Amino acid sequence: LTDRLSSAFKNLRSKGKLTESDIDGTIREIRRALLDADVAVDVVRSFTGRIRERALGAEVNEALNPAQQVVSIVHEELTGILGAGVDRPLNFAKNPPTIIMLAGLQGAGKTTLAGKLGYWLKDAGHTPLLVAADLQRPNAVQQLQVVGERAGVAVFAPEAGVSSDAVAAGTATPGQDAGNPVQVARDSIDFARQKQYDTVIIDTAGRLGIDEELMAQARNIRDAVNPHEILFVIDAMIGQDAVRTAKAFDEGVDFTGVVLSKVDGDARGGAALSVASVTGKPILFSSTGEGLKDFEVFHPDRMSSRILDMGDILTLIEQAQKQFDEEEARKAAEKLSEGSFGLDDFLEQLQQVRKLGSMKSLLGMIPGMAAHRKELEQFDEKEIDRTEAIIRSMTPEERRNPSIINGSRRARIAYGSGVTVTAVNGLLQRFEQAAKMMKRMGGATGIPGFGGAMG
Ligand code: GDP
Ligand code: MG
Repeated sequence: LTDRLSSAFKNLRSKGKLTESDIDGTIREIRRALLDADVAVDVVRSFTGRIRERALGAEVNEALNPAQQVVSIVHEELTGILGAGVDRPLNFAKNPPTIIMLAGLQGAGKTTLAGKLGYWLKDAGHTPLLVAADLQRPNAVQQLQVVGERAGVAVFAPEAGVSSDAVAAGTATPGQDAGNPVQVARDSIDFARQKQYDTVIIDTAGRLGIDEELMAQARNIRDAVNPHEILFVIDAMIGQDAVRTAKAFDEGVDFTGVVLSKVDGDARGGAALSVASVTGKPILFSSTGEGLKDFEVFHPDRMSSRILDMGDILTLIEQAQKQFDEEEARKAAEKLSEGSFGLDDFLEQLQQVRKLGSMKSLLGMIPGMAAHRKELEQFDEKEIDRTEAIIRSMTPEERRNPSIINGSRRARIAYGSGVTVTAVNGLLQRFEQAAKMMKRMGGATGIPGFGGAMG
């Protein structure tokens, strides 16, 4: 009886498909938000066109009003485009060293990024080597040496003035041909192989504008060392120039991934959408400040919210998201009680935990908590990033059924996610314990942290 009743109500409320007038007002708002965020005009046009088409064909969702529904389509498309890199960790070489080349305009943040990436890799148990292949600007080599020193990462430089760390360790030698960045890059690979550095990060020269000579140099470096990753670094504040610059580097060096820098600035990050949509290349990291630790794996949903940063739109998204979250939580709870909760589900829950990010500022307002600000700030990012990377390096089968993950699989996962085997072991152990406990509890009462969705 209840079923029949509710389906009757459903028919009453259903208006069939969304109408043009439902959609167009909201699309106008979205267009304004995107242009405000400095998304390139052409990109805005094709993006809103696609949204309109999709929305026009959409069934009316009984839980959302039309504006909410359009906005949730927008959010979904946006995170889809921005999230091409979510399932893609750094591409590590089977036989080290992994070679990562940085490319981008002058001032984009390449040298700064070299230090951050080196620091991040070192922290994950790698042995990175930074390579000074920017011989264009007089101080570029020295700048990288300073950066390397701060990060505690060795620097390979073409001159005698190599990083003091590397000198102290007796590890750095001058290249053969000091003036030639291609030769420096080539030499650095031999050096890394000899001294067993497992990752080589090559900093290259940039110009203020796109320049054929610069591009040819970058291409020559690329062809000399065959990088496993070519990361295009782009300043989030670049605005409308994002498309032209990204296209030029895409054609010029055919980069494999994007790093968005200066995300800490005022810009709303429209460049992210522009670059991702015109190149189709994944955004892997964002750089969020001048400090070594101001660096993180790129979060498409945060960027999406930021691009749409308009009070009304965000509220709409949150409402739509909440609906979605409740549904997800209910499903997770169901799986838990059935005992079929896998690492994939765990990953989804982690994404939910990420949203606690907004709780940090709340917690910060509690008297006495200010003293713990550091801990609060460190709370999610690193650990969650690492856990996420580990799970993403597993095959779907392994995620569903973690018990098949034996020693050699653990080693592969650790390698793929850039962590130690101990970290993989730790995660699997914690997961097993949690799953056991949750299963036990799920059978009886309900699961804390799932909002009573178990009833
Ligand atoms: P490169 O020419 O591409 O090597 O760029 P640099 O790494 O030298 O960076 C240019 C300037 O931008 C420097 O003053 C950096 O300190 C600054 N910078 C780089 N990345 C960031 C970032 O993520 N946030 C902020 N606020 N500044 C950055
Ligand atoms: Mg530089």
